[in-house]
Amino acid sequence: NNGEKKAKIAVVGCSHGEMDAIYETMALIEEKKGYKFDLLICCGDYQAVRNHGDLPHMSIPPKYRSLQTFYKYYSGEKKAPVLTLFIGGNHEASGFLCELPNGGWVAPNIFYMGFANCIQFAGLRIAGLSGIYSHGDVEFSHYERPAFAERDVKSAYHVRNVDMFRLRQLKAANNDKLSNPIDIMLSHDWPGGIPDFGDSAWLFKKKDLFEADHKSGKLGNPALMKLIYDCRPRYYLAAHLHIKFAALVPHKGSGSERPQPTRFLSLDKPIPGRQFMQALEINVASDAKMELSYDPEWLAILKNTDLLTTADKTKIVLPDRIGSVPCVYDRKDFRPTAEEMEEITKLGDLTIKTDTFKHTAPPLKEDTSEAKNVPPSAYYHNPQSA
Ligand code: 5GP
Ligand code: MN
Repeated sequence: NNGEKKAKIAVVGCSHGEMDAIYETMALIEEKKGYKFDLLICCGDYQAVRNHGDLPHMSIPPKYRSLQTFYKYYSGEKKAPVLTLFIGGNHEASGFLCELPNGGWVAPNIFYMGFANCIQFAGLRIAGLSGIYSHGDVEFSHYERPAFAERDVKSAYHVRNVDMFRLRQLKAANNDKLSNPIDIMLSHDWPGGIPDFGDSAWLFKKKDLFEADHKSGKLGNPALMKLIYDCRPRYYLAAHLHIKFAALVPHKGSGSERPQPTRFLSLDKPIPGRQFMQALEINVASDAKMELSYDPEWLAILKNTDLLTTADKTKIVLPDRIGSVPCVYDRKDFRPTAEEMEEITKLGDLTIKTDTFKHTAPPLKEDTSEAKNVPPSAYYHNPQSA
């Protein structure tokens, strides 16, 4: 029996540390729809602040600098009622997230994807990119930040080319013109150019500063449309611009023979009356388990592109870079070979274990005035220098 069932996925745009409000809203939708969600996806500005020591590592205007609600899920006072998956945005506890460059549990049932990742949920391939685009940092490595000084707080959440290069390696084989290799792709800021694929006239009327930025190529990440065309995700989810906006990106093909178009959706921020949550129902195999697992192809890509990473602060020359820079690599295409995939097969079961979360900072039991006086250095744990 090749039966199917539906994975019920709730999506939010920016979370801004409002975990309580988000789970309460999900419960209301569940009541109305008469089902339970299997997964929550948060598209950045998650604010996984464990305690007061994490606050100086978050880039945010003083009036918004607050613990919010995540710390209760970190301490164990509350438990996420639904498996929660998130990417980073530009307001994050960046010191904490740097502990997990390739992702991991930040609290029981809450999984951070890392700088970039592709993981599977119920057989769906979900690829994600954390952070936002900034021209000045995009060519650099993710370098070690021993003290996490003030300038590190901003550069830590800037998107890097090496991560987008890795994600591009998820593209289909050259002879595969019809598939959608990725089911869901996530980024915090929008792919530059995406307004052209939706009702841009409406958008520019609502947000009058967007039109000029869009026309001058400054709205969003200029490299992400290429990622959409390469990986052809069925769904693309984003946030950051604090408005609900949908778009449809068609893919090349001949006649009716073409991959499914990419359905883009960006959601608003979590304040009452705004459109910050959307329910998605996606077909999965009837025997699919509603749990996370590592994606074998992504693991092979992490391994075969390891030569593109360093803890030193340096510009990374990408193998597919076109220009005067001599190519120092013996290949441009890092899509995994059969031999590389074979190595991954040897790892066996790739299910992501749910009981591997560990505290790396003292959980905050109660938000008292003494709790505020702890220096950040007491909390920030840098695994790279450990
Ligand atoms: P955040 O919540 O990340 O601090 O900021 C998001 C806010 O900045 C939103 O209100 C969004 O509309 C605005 N914003 C972000 N990027 C751009 C941009 O490129 N152009 C314009 N005009 N506004 C932006
Ligand atoms: Mn943002």
